[in-house]
Amino acid sequence: AKERGKNTYQFYTAHLMERSARKMELENDLRKALIKQELQVYYQPQIDLQTGVVIGMEALLRWPHEKYGFISPLEFIPIAEETGLIVPLGEWVLRRACQQNKQWQEEGMACIPVAVNLSARQMQEENFIDMIIRVLHETELKPQFLDLEITESMVQDIENSTVILHKLKDLGVKLSIDDFGTGYSSLSYLKHLPIDKIKIDKSFVDDIIHHENQGAIVKTIIDMGHNLQFKVIAEGIEKEEQVQFLMEYGCIMGQGYFFSPPLHSKEMKKFLSQDKEVLER
Ligand code: C2E
Ligand code: CA
Ligand code: CA
Ligand code: CA
Repeated sequence: AKERGKNTYQFYTAHLMERSARKMELENDLRKALIKQELQVYYQPQIDLQTGVVIGMEALLRWPHEKYGFISPLEFIPIAEETGLIVPLGEWVLRRACQQNKQWQEEGMACIPVAVNLSARQMQEENFIDMIIRVLHETELKPQFLDLEITESMVQDIENSTVILHKLKDLGVKLSIDDFGTGYSSLSYLKHLPIDKIKIDKSFVDDIIHHENQGAIVKTIIDMGHNLQFKVIAEGIEKEEQVQFLMEYGCIMGQGYFFSPPLHSKEMKKFLSQDKEVLER
């Protein structure tokens, strides 16, 4: 038994070392990738469920790693947050997304907002608001075309978050609560904040088809959200059936693989162009 304990111990140590080695490797590579501009921003369309028209897009980071292929943001964002690299990285994504959105508008595509994910670490920076102002100014994007996604926990954890949110609101940018329903805040808490939209987390959208109650929670969230004057968008829609139920429940905005995965900017432009043709016809 002693021998076995030792082996297990060795196994775990080896495993831990492997994990921290990869983490250190990724941290180093991420730093380089940022400097060498190797990261990419993909865009996932947001759809008006009633007309099928694109009404917005979410910017999502992509990192094609030379050795490991695409590395999930679920792995490298936490590393970037731990190391503080998320601050320059987050600014880079924001600038790219704003530049791109401005360019598409100038090319005659629909004028629709781009949503950018924020991390707590970024919002805690002293010059956070100035950074947003500077990027909007440099890219010449009108603030109403920028939609900032924050989570419930960020709102509650960050000192002065209410002050920061009001400053953002005063700039004219849109504010969305991401992964709504997975945090511990209540809608009545959010009522006092200058929020425009809640994004219903994928897990509730999944419930529509996986549970007998057919999304009773989703229905409740949609109703309450609307009663509090928030826009409501459903995330992670994969099936037609979910679209039908969501519309029945009064949710008219959605995002998910059913419509499109996140797209490379070239593909996203095609997606926007198709829409443009339909509208012009
Ligand atoms: P998120 O903000 O909740 O983004 C939605 C995630 O769900 C994206 O994963 C998207 O590709 C995926 N998704 C969209 N539709 C579907 C669907 O129908 N089915 C399924 N199974 N998944 C769907 P992604 O791109 O891997 O990003 C994961 C998370 O990483 C994001 O979750 C966000 O929290 C974070 N992230 C990504 N880009 C950034 C960024 O630029 N800054 C920050 N701070 N976080 C980011
Ligand atoms: Ca998001
Ligand atoms: Ca989300
Ligand atoms: Ca998230």
